[in-house]
Amino acid sequence: MNLADSSTLRVAMITRGYQLVDDEKDADLIVLNTCSVRQKAEDRIRGRLGEIHSLKKRKPHVKIAVVGCMAQRLGNELIDQVPYVDYVLGTDRLFALPDVLEGNENTSSVMTAFGHENIDSIKPIRENEHSAFVTISRGCNNYCSYCIVPYVRGRERSHSREHIVEAVHRMNDEGVVEITLLGQNVNSYRYKQTDFPCLLQSIVRETDIRRIRFMTSHPKDLSEKLVDVMANEPRIMPHIHLPLQSGSDAVLQRMGRAYTYSHYRHVIDYIRRKLDYVVITTDLMVGFPGETLEDFEKTLEAVRDIRYDSAFMFRYSVRPGTKAAGYDDDVPEDEKIRRLNKLIELQQNISYERNQREVGRVCECVVEGYSRRSQELARGRTEGNKTVLFRTDEMVLGSVAPVQITAADAFTLRGEIMEANRS
Ligand code: SAH
Ligand code: SF4
Repeated sequence: MNLADSSTLRVAMITRGYQLVDDEKDADLIVLNTCSVRQKAEDRIRGRLGEIHSLKKRKPHVKIAVVGCMAQRLGNELIDQVPYVDYVLGTDRLFALPDVLEGNENTSSVMTAFGHENIDSIKPIRENEHSAFVTISRGCNNYCSYCIVPYVRGRERSHSREHIVEAVHRMNDEGVVEITLLGQNVNSYRYKQTDFPCLLQSIVRETDIRRIRFMTSHPKDLSEKLVDVMANEPRIMPHIHLPLQSGSDAVLQRMGRAYTYSHYRHVIDYIRRKLDYVVITTDLMVGFPGETLEDFEKTLEAVRDIRYDSAFMFRYSVRPGTKAAGYDDDVPEDEKIRRLNKLIELQQNISYERNQREVGRVCECVVEGYSRRSQELARGRTEGNKTVLFRTDEMVLGSVAPVQITAADAFTLRGEIMEANRS
């Protein structure tokens, strides 16, 4: 979501005549779009601000803007703590940055009020040749007890169906082959009569976009109707990111997730029954207040049972103002680390095994660039959102190439391109 917002802001600034520079040393304005979801994300921003401060000491005219979630959470407090920050614009106001810089009416250097945004005026844009994010809803109404998002991103509001379809249409005309629809909980998207499965059907029917992805799904709201639409529509990519968080019902209840493990398991069963090929990924958290060894075992058990293709795994960190901040953060830090390492090890073994099952398959890969390590290998993305590296004589960004998978480790697939069929 932050990547998408940063792109939109960057293009809004360029449209207003600002110029992007490659190196922050050459900039007159430095913008940090921030995340508050875990303490670590905020610590990193504070570290970056320290580095930028030394630059500002040498070039005092340089302006610093902190925007997004951390700006929203701290507001004026941030200026008190970090006085060399010039502008603080929250999640609803970051797109006003050019107006603020130009001192336009009704703007000030710290803005965090909600409700000023005409969400359909925020135009999604593409930043590279082949793929783009399209935000379909902003904010969240779920108030999971550990989570800061509803506080910093505000109530859920959905973009209109027309706005989204138009954005996809425009991007397709500009040569984008793959769009990712974004929302904190895409399954609760609603605009008038249009729910999320209907939105997907509209995009399929009314645009020629080649590949459609979405994230994130919430297990309490993911419907059978959505899975049925996916099963019937090959342009919707077979990847579902479905955060479980914990395998223990007691922990899930205290997290306020509104599902049990058994419900979650049924959803997974339905998905796997209906979709011949599907990649399922998740988010997991260890060390939530009151998580016993037995609870943690249940998370390990769930991971063994479901066999995710991959997972994002975190240790719980207290977010001030959330419900769980009132619970006793009673799992010691070294125990959280121990649990996290154990979980990561288990998941990596499973990812390895899941990736071995890809060997021999022919995937349709969108060519995204060179491998990070070698300019000799191209990097592509499979239908299931896995990264695949392969040799090619002719690198055409954004082309879709059939690649036969020949080997795999826990993180990456290797393959060989079948050149004759490329499009
Ligand atoms: N809306 C999405 C994800 C939001 S945040 C969803 O509901 O799944 C992304 C992930 O960060 C969450 O899934 C959770 O695993 C993790 N997370 C959120 N708050 C956290 C906290 N306080 N400590 C540690 N991890 C957290
Ligand atoms: Fe946070 Fe829960 Fe909303 Fe996801 S669904 S953003 S975890 S409150």
